Amino acid sequence: MPYIQKDDKKDLDKSIKAIATALRVGDFRGKLNYSLNSIFVSLIEAKGMSYHLVNDFIGVLECAKLEAYRRVAAPYEDSKIVANGDIFHPSHLIINNCLSCGLQDKTFSVKGLCKVCVLKAAGFDDNTLTITPYDADIEDLSKNKSA
Ligand SMILES: [Zn+2]
Repeated sequence: MPYIQKDDKKDLDKSIKAIATALRVGDFRGKLNYSLNSIFVSLIEAKGMSYHLVNDFIGVLECAKLEAYRRVAAPYEDSKIVANGDIFHPSHLIINNCLSCGLQDKTFSVKGLCKVCVLKAAGFDDNTLTITPYDADIEDLSKNKSA
């Protein structure tokens, strides 16, 4: 969760700007890896070596990776699918459970919803025995015919 409070950012932004500026020159990969692991060493020196610290640090790296993927890489890749075409056929994207309620089924709407969830989204609930708008339409049609 990189969305920390403004006051917490103030303490870090000047240092981050200096590192980011240094990373812009040449190949950033080794320098970024060095920066991250130097921060890790500093945390180990300050807090003492423990599995808890290793686990937390690796967990933060993993979450930072996932957030960068979710917010930057995935939308970029989606734009490339639109520009250059997809390689996954719809049959490769088969789902077995409703994306809303989790019901296991074989048929889903384009949005991945089961029949029950499609009906609920259209305003019907579990207790609906008749489709009132449809019945009303038929009544209206029969009135028009007899008139
Ligand atoms: Zn459902």
